[in-house]
Amino acid sequence: MIQRNGKTYYPTIGLEVHAELATETKMFCACKNDPDEIRPNVNTCPVCMAHPGTLPVPNKTAIESVVKVGLAINNGTENIANFSEFDRKNYFYPDIPKGYQISQYKYPIVSGGELGGVKITRIHLEEDTGSNKHTDGEELSGNFSLVDFNRAGVPLMELVTEPVIHDAETAMNFGKELQLLLRTLGVAHANMEKGEMRVELNISISDKPDVFGTKVEVKNINSFSVVGKAAAYEIDRMIALYEAGRQDEIVQETRGWNDQKQMTYSQRRKENSNDYRYFPDPDLAKMYLHDMFDLEKMKSALPELPWQKRARYANDYGIKAEDIESYVTDKTLGDYFESIASQLQNKELVKIASNYLTSDLLGLFAKNPELRYPSADNFAKLIQMNGDGKLNSRGVKDILAIIVEQDQDPEIVANEKGLIQQNDTGALEAVAQKILDANPEKIAEYKSGKEAMLMFFVGQIMKETKGSANPQLVQEILKKLMG
Ligand code: ADP
Ligand code: MG
Ligand code: ZN
Repeated sequence: MIQRNGKTYYPTIGLEVHAELATETKMFCACKNDPDEIRPNVNTCPVCMAHPGTLPVPNKTAIESVVKVGLAINNGTENIANFSEFDRKNYFYPDIPKGYQISQYKYPIVSGGELGGVKITRIHLEEDTGSNKHTDGEELSGNFSLVDFNRAGVPLMELVTEPVIHDAETAMNFGKELQLLLRTLGVAHANMEKGEMRVELNISISDKPDVFGTKVEVKNINSFSVVGKAAAYEIDRMIALYEAGRQDEIVQETRGWNDQKQMTYSQRRKENSNDYRYFPDPDLAKMYLHDMFDLEKMKSALPELPWQKRARYANDYGIKAEDIESYVTDKTLGDYFESIASQLQNKELVKIASNYLTSDLLGLFAKNPELRYPSADNFAKLIQMNGDGKLNSRGVKDILAIIVEQDQDPEIVANEKGLIQQNDTGALEAVAQKILDANPEKIAEYKSGKEAMLMFFVGQIMKETKGSANPQLVQEILKKLMG
């Protein structure tokens, strides 16, 4: 809820997310499903071009993909429909050659579930449309539109959430979590900037906690940040209407996002579902999913899911939530981390490794994309040397910067570069005494209460030892020598 000028407003959000499934072939024909194909109309055939007399044949892998998502977000298998069917959703648009889209209406493949704390209403399967290219008369002479049917008939999963989200950030995070799940299951690439995943934001504002306001739908959002920005924009826009006493002007409509102006704009009043005249597609067989698939077996064969991985990392290693998120979202990094962790003796070392990994190693990578992961063995050994007191943090960082350029044994590098940490109290005392003798006035300052002087001396000694002194030990020695 949001307080404004002494009044409370209740935003409600529900999402509808479309994701193209990464199958080899299209939903109802054998055409290649290739989102990267740039030549227009090469992946087409009489079926996806809707020639009269052709018959659709369902793609079992696409159905299986939706079932997998359903199994991942539910306990057990009951939320996978036993009976499911395809319907025709009738409407005319140049990119939809049949004059209808094959979709699912009453009997979706999945009903119920929960993802990232958000309740799921349903997941169903449909076919994607073709895509239109509108020329502005410059690139091509004339002012006309072109249609490319490569995308027509690509399997499209639609997931609908309950209206249970109440802020822009949760809406944005839900999109990210779904993308992560689809990628983990390997069922979709879900790159938003390529249009492989598209979000529709349903949003309403009420001035009462127990009734919904009129919802508007912001369509075809193709980035997570726009999900957040469009939600925030709509919340502000609708609250402003309430404040002006003009809440009647909030109408059920479809809006778009104008990225240049960073605002939503009205596109059209919304259709009702009965405008589509849905009816079961007589060309397609009914689906009895509990007979078609061994659901128990599929459920136990699911890969480790993002939330399971988070829990395992937190449990086994006790590392920071931020680090866990980096490993969960970047599989290469996560696998690398795990193979390092498996070589370290205790949780403390794993935490240290995780810090160097997410702050230092990723920091180096960010500055220079040419750099490579050192072998996990060498990284683990580097951390082990730190744990054993052979390297201080300066030494770890210096060696790291070297082994990302050329992978090698950190012990050899440490010896070559004289980076092995000096823990020899006698030798360090001698260096400390030399520095103290040269700075009697600084000792006086320290003794008069200026404690920062201690770090001045530590710095001098680190310099003198080329960064190799054990800084903890140096501090102890200094305190002792200065009484
Ligand atoms: P429609 O028939 O207009 O598509 P649905 O009831 O099927 O509406 O819901 C579509 C989406 O809108 C769902 O994600 C749902 O959670 C969401 N939704 C429904 N009512 C509201 C509301 N008052 N405010 C925000 N979102 C809503
Ligand atoms: Mg809708
Ligand atoms: Zn085809």
